[in-house]
Parts: sequence; structure tokens; C-alpha cells
Amino acid sequence: MLNLVLFGPPGAGKGTQSNLLIDKYNLVHLSTGDILRGEIKAGTTLGLEAKAIMDRGDLVSDEIVIGMISSKLDNNPNSNGFIFDGFPRTAAQANALDNLLSDKGTSISAMLSLKVEDAELIKRLLARGQDSGRADDKNESIIANRINEYNNKTAPLKDFYAAQKKLSEIEGLGSVEDIAKKLNSVIDNL
Ligand code: ADP
Repeated sequence: MLNLVLFGPPGAGKGTQSNLLIDKYNLVHLSTGDILRGEIKAGTTLGLEAKAIMDRGDLVSDEIVIGMISSKLDNNPNSNGFIFDGFPRTAAQANALDNLLSDKGTSISAMLSLKVEDAELIKRLLARGQDSGRADDKNESIIANRINEYNNKTAPLKDFYAAQKKLSEIEGLGSVEDIAKKLNSVIDNL
């Protein structure tokens, strides 16, 4: 199986690149942000609970997102592999993911980490907010909070995967095609 963690700060381009990778490598895309937004749209209890947290740019509880990923893994037993996008975001989530995959006799193949500087992230997210209508893309202080959450809780996970010799860092500035080529070359050399 090919199991990839697509990593990077909010606005780094994880969603765009995931869509290219799922087609090329025939993988299942698991985006915790998309799953949570689906729950909000469907008006579930979980969605109602998550909405206020997401609108502030804070992280939803580990328990909720780990449960979501666990059931998605169970629902796709014959997949060629998975792209984890927006997950794991904390050390507890990374440990839980290792355990869930190991229970299924598999593991993470690589973490692909997209590097983009803060000023560019803020520009991209504000531009996306214009048409996506996402509450968390609307103003700069919420975006700053998301970037802070990333720096404090999520960025340290690079060390977790580096210790397993699974980390590749990729420059996230440039055309979508150029970045895709760089990601493909890392994956093809695994
Ligand atoms: P982005 O990467 O652009 O911030 P996402 O769609 O990945 O967007 O996430 C949007 C929001 O959803 C996050 O700010 C957070 O509130 C919540 N969220 C998504 N994934 C997780 C996760 N793994 N752990 C906790 N909260 C999450």
C-alpha cells in the first residue's frame, strides 16, 4: 500500500495536490477538513460541535478526528492506499494513525511536506475566502490563529516522521504542475 501524509500549513496547496495524486496513484483522499465541513453541511451533532471551533481557527478534538479517520479506514478495506490531508495535526493524532495502520498490517510510506512562507499563505487564504465562503478564510486574525496552531501543534510532527526516515520537504511555491512533478518524483523513488 501507498500511504502518504500530505503536510504543510493552511494554504500550502494540500487539497490541490491531493486531487492530482489520487488520480495518478489510485488512492483514497482522506481530508479531515472536508469530512468536517461535510458534517456541518449535513447538520449532524458532530458538525454542530465542530463548527464554532473551526470558525475560530482552533483545532477540533483529537478524539473526534481520530474516530473519523478510523471509520474511513474501515470503510475502504480494498484501497490501494490513502492520502492523509490535514491529518495528523497533533502528536496524539500521529501516534493514533501509526496504531490504526499497524492494526491493518500497513504503515505510512512518506510524509510530503509543502513549504510556503506566511505572507504567501495569508494572501492565498484571503483570496480563497472571496469565493469559497469559508468562515475561517475571511479575516486575517483567524488565518493568523490557524497558522499559529500549525506552528505550535502541527509543524513538530515533521520531527516525528523524520525520526522514522519518512520526511521529504518540497518547495510549495511555483506552478501547480511543477510542484506536482516534484511530489511525483519523491513518490516514484520510494
Ligand atoms: P486548512 O489546511 O486550509 O487549514 P482544513 O480544511 O484542513 O484547512 O481544516 C480546516 C479546519 O478544520 C481546521 O482549522 C480545524 O479547525 C479543523 N480540522 C481539520 N483537520 C483537523 C485535525 N486533524 N485535527 C483537528 N482539527 C482539524
